[in-house]
Amino acid sequence: MKSVVTIKLKIPCKKELLETMRQYSKSAQYVVDTGWENGIYSKRELHNLTYYPIREILELPAQLVCSSRDKACETLKSLWKIKKPTKPNFKEMLTIRYDARSFSFNFDCVSLATTNGRLKIPVDIPEYYWQYLDWDARNADLILDRKNKLLLHITFSRDIQLPTNSDGFLGVDIGINQVAVTSNRQFFNARQIKLKRIKFKRIRAKLQSKGTRSAKRLLKKVSGREQRFMRYWNHVISKQIVNNCKAGTIVLENLKGIRNVRKGRKFNFWLNRWSFYQLQQFITYKALRSGIKTIKVSPYLTSQTCSRCGQIGSRSKGFFVCSHCGYSLNADLNASFNLAKHHSNADGVSVPVTVPDIRVDEHKGSLRTIACETMDKSPHL
Ligand SMILES: [Zn+2]
Repeated sequence: MKSVVTIKLKIPCKKELLETMRQYSKSAQYVVDTGWENGIYSKRELHNLTYYPIREILELPAQLVCSSRDKACETLKSLWKIKKPTKPNFKEMLTIRYDARSFSFNFDCVSLATTNGRLKIPVDIPEYYWQYLDWDARNADLILDRKNKLLLHITFSRDIQLPTNSDGFLGVDIGINQVAVTSNRQFFNARQIKLKRIKFKRIRAKLQSKGTRSAKRLLKKVSGREQRFMRYWNHVISKQIVNNCKAGTIVLENLKGIRNVRKGRKFNFWLNRWSFYQLQQFITYKALRSGIKTIKVSPYLTSQTCSRCGQIGSRSKGFFVCSHCGYSLNADLNASFNLAKHHSNADGVSVPVTVPDIRVDEHKGSLRTIACETMDKSPHL
């Protein structure tokens, strides 16, 4: 499986780079215009029609002409999904997509193709990223951000061989009162996060009711802040889950369709606000880098089934109670045990396999509560 890391670097705003960006955008626009007028979106046909004219008008190097053409073709193709498309207009400073022919990376220096030949720029890679320096660096994006700063996003990739018969399964139940509960008894409490999000909700409601222009601007800012806040916690939580995972496979719930299943206004509010999907993505890619496989299984009945005897029990107020064997424990922990028992095949149909060894004192569900404020705050990706 391929693991990918993107390193974001600030780059000095050299005028050659800005000029290249401008011409790259013009080139892409020329291709889009030609394709739009003639109803063509095939790369090869558009190449024949536009390559030489572009090379004549602009000073853009050949590889970047091809790269901008590819970008334009993708934009044209994406119009097929829209009912009434209008002609796309690229912004003046379009993000340049570099590949192995137009870009190279050499530990402390990058070389980029520009309108004025190759430009070598010294870069300073933060120490954290040194672990990726022996990976393949084949692609990079040159971006001009909203504050007019140039950023280079370099993509490093490597094929990771996952062990074929990995032993042990770790179930991760993702929920609302506990962001995540794992079958190795880690609890990630959501209280702190919830409180902060209620604050965000209040600010949002206030600004929305105002409706002025400046309120809208502020609303955008606040929503960005909220997203970064969630992203931060998702990184922290996923990192801890993966670092404490001794199993060869992490079992997650397949969240597709979850919005249609569960009911309740309050529940839906949190469900829609919560970036469960992002948390799962973070767990998946972090696990991959540590050589741990992740699988997704259907969440069907994981929270209603007794993890000890496999019969249907009931849950109330965060507890799971089995009326058949009398077993009771924290409901989310029970769900994570069920997930850990579920080996999935390709279609996500789950088959319970082994019964885990469970002690009875777990019904309190707070054996190893990790409050958010005390969680590891070391640097993360
Ligand atoms: Zn039972």
